[in-house]
Amino acid sequence: MSNLLDIYQRLLAHYGNRNWWPADTPFEVIIGAILTQNTNWNNVEKAIVNLRRVNALTNDAILKLDQEALEQLIRPSGFFRQKAERLQLFCRYLQKHHQGNLDHLFDQELNRVRDELLRLKGIGPETADSILLYAGQHLSFVVDAYTYRLFGRLGILSGKEKYGFVRDFFMSQLPDDIQLYNEYHALIVIHCKDFCRKKPLCQNCPCADICPEKQPN
Ligand code: SF4
Repeated sequence: MSNLLDIYQRLLAHYGNRNWWPADTPFEVIIGAILTQNTNWNNVEKAIVNLRRVNALTNDAILKLDQEALEQLIRPSGFFRQKAERLQLFCRYLQKHHQGNLDHLFDQELNRVRDELLRLKGIGPETADSILLYAGQHLSFVVDAYTYRLFGRLGILSGKEKYGFVRDFFMSQLPDDIQLYNEYHALIVIHCKDFCRKKPLCQNCPCADICPEKQPN
């Protein structure tokens, strides 16, 4: 069985650095991480363009919007009522407990910030870890459905493992390197979009020679 670092090197050699997350500020990363739940990134981008147009990509600005106005701005991202509520809950929490200051939130120890995020309605482990890694520069590996798909096919996961187990497994096997965590998750995403799709395109896959589930297409 290939190790996680070998797979990372293969993906990196094939795709190059992905330089994620596509955002200008840590706060924009957080907005994107909440809006991307249950939708694709193209829809999130439309919502972010709307927020940028009215200068609403800050904690203060989101708090000043009434819920209905926020809902309309983020409507393209789907589940817009639920997501507007989640965004405002996050912003109110940040304001109340961290003076609206992201550095104040992120300057805490990893598990403490993670617990705070996970206590907020609508922030599950994948969203929390995306926020921690890409906005907070914390060493927290992001696991998503693509991770289960790719590493399941490569014979490393069975698919039945819980989120926390998979995250711990990656974090125990990989060096403590935030940039590597950042790139690895992004590489898994691009690989599952380009090659390891639901119906995989195995022909030129950079992992084909080590994949037990390689298809003859
Ligand atoms: S060989 Fe096919 S199934 Fe295996 S990792 Fe590559 S694309 Fe996925």
